[in-house]
Amino acid sequence: VPLILTHFLDRAVSLYGEKKAVFCEDREFTYRELNSRVNRLSNGLRKLGVKKGDRIAYLAPNTVEMLEGFYGVFQLGAVMVPLNIRLKPDDYLFILNHSESKVLFVDQELYHLIAPVKDKLETVERIIVHYHDGSSPEAGYDEWLKGNSEAPFDREFLEEQDVCSLLYTSGTTGNPKGVMLTHRNNYLHALSSMHHLRVSDEDVLIHVLPMFHVNGWGSPFYYTANGAAQVCLRKAAPESIFAAIAKHGATVMHMAPTVLNSILQHYEQHVPEVKDNIRVVIAGSAPPPAFVTRVEKELGWEFIQVYGMTESSPLSTVSTVRSHLKRLPLNEQYRMKAKAGVPMIGSEVKVVNELGREVAGNGMEIGEVVVRSNGVMKGYWKNDEATMEAIRDGWLHTGDMANVDSYGNIEIVDRKKDVIISGGENISSIEVEGVLYDHPAVLEAAVIAVPHEKWGETPHAYVVLRPGTTITEKELIDFSREKLAHFKAITGVTFVDELPKTASGKIQKVHLRNEYWEAQG
Ligand code: ATP
Ligand code: MG
Repeated sequence: VPLILTHFLDRAVSLYGEKKAVFCEDREFTYRELNSRVNRLSNGLRKLGVKKGDRIAYLAPNTVEMLEGFYGVFQLGAVMVPLNIRLKPDDYLFILNHSESKVLFVDQELYHLIAPVKDKLETVERIIVHYHDGSSPEAGYDEWLKGNSEAPFDREFLEEQDVCSLLYTSGTTGNPKGVMLTHRNNYLHALSSMHHLRVSDEDVLIHVLPMFHVNGWGSPFYYTANGAAQVCLRKAAPESIFAAIAKHGATVMHMAPTVLNSILQHYEQHVPEVKDNIRVVIAGSAPPPAFVTRVEKELGWEFIQVYGMTESSPLSTVSTVRSHLKRLPLNEQYRMKAKAGVPMIGSEVKVVNELGREVAGNGMEIGEVVVRSNGVMKGYWKNDEATMEAIRDGWLHTGDMANVDSYGNIEIVDRKKDVIISGGENISSIEVEGVLYDHPAVLEAAVIAVPHEKWGETPHAYVVLRPGTTITEKELIDFSREKLAHFKAITGVTFVDELPKTASGKIQKVHLRNEYWEAQG
């Protein structure tokens, strides 16, 4: 069987046709209804002249329109290009032209981001607006969809190595690059993920992570394949998350640590919120250890850390505690879950030093994470040089630094670009942040390298305080000196009201570095 993603929806329709598939605001759809919408979409796109291999862009938050887009585009053998909703008009102009997208679907709420650059789009022939309220000159999606046949779609012949998506990276460290993922990449990634996260037809997933970002992008496949229900949330505010848990009996969520943080804070203030049907919450992007313990103890949810990147579909490791380790004291288990974990099935993950040799598994030696897996991308779109730089000798070089403990758990220490080098010692910004999060007054923290006369660089913290608390710079510096080797302790603090974040909830240290330089004049 060729590993084509449309198989997942076919399976759900034949086994779970009348079961609720999607809840989106006040609308709900069974798998059969979802499938009809998908067929209308594919039939409509064919009428517009879309062919196999054409790029179809989406600028939308988590909605049923976005979710059905996946399968509607794939039936044609076309390539989905999801756009991050927090970019600027010029960024969209760049990505839409660079990807040579032919059709653009855009949510009405986001249309104003496209309008200013519309006339400069070189390849987009058609813009269709979701939730069209009549205020733009484009076609409205609902009418357009209704006008297309819901008859089963005569699918294009696809091979599993065909590209299904161009996902532009977060741009946390620079210009976004278009990652080409294939049907095979996502299919095998889904099989592995559903196993490790124990996905079943009893699951109700809340799409907290944006589907336009790789972390949210991959999950619809494995929940669809299993006939689980999926709740689409436009905004990841704690109020709406708890409301969705109560209303739909949600069992599982994937989210960024920053959102998890807002959930913990909300729960503190609204203790009898309904929460007990959630069985597990999954997070990547370096969750501070304090969150892991709090999620398990205060919310009673199992916590699983995952590690990955757009270039690997994304997940490569998972932190579930293996059964023979469950005899370890709870605190030790929490520490284990606060690491990136062990390679998932279908992934080989190594941590190698500069000579390319694997580091000692004693938790001490640090090297770069390299990955060889079913999920590793075909390459960067129109950027062979970057592809050759990233994939060398068959291994994806992640640019992430890590150690491996005696249980084989990988712990991400830092991105190479974020490591602070002070007096010749490498300091993990993630480790320092983890300590700051242990302080009761700290709501959010990010640590960056700033120049130091004597040491070259030194750790500097950007901190958001919890409402109603006060603390001085000196107190926080002293706290970090108590908990860390002195050379790792922060030497300065900038208190801010909020930290700059990507749409997927990652803290953008590039912006903090710029801000620091600007503040220095
Ligand atoms: P860009 O590549 O455009 O700069 P990005 O690297 O942030 O952006 P993503 O592919 O979304 O884009 O993120 C992958 C990165 O996120 C990883 O390389 C790693 O640095 C970080 N990351 C993911 N999971 C974890 C984790 N569990 N612990 C620590 N860091 C993580
Ligand atoms: Mg990256």
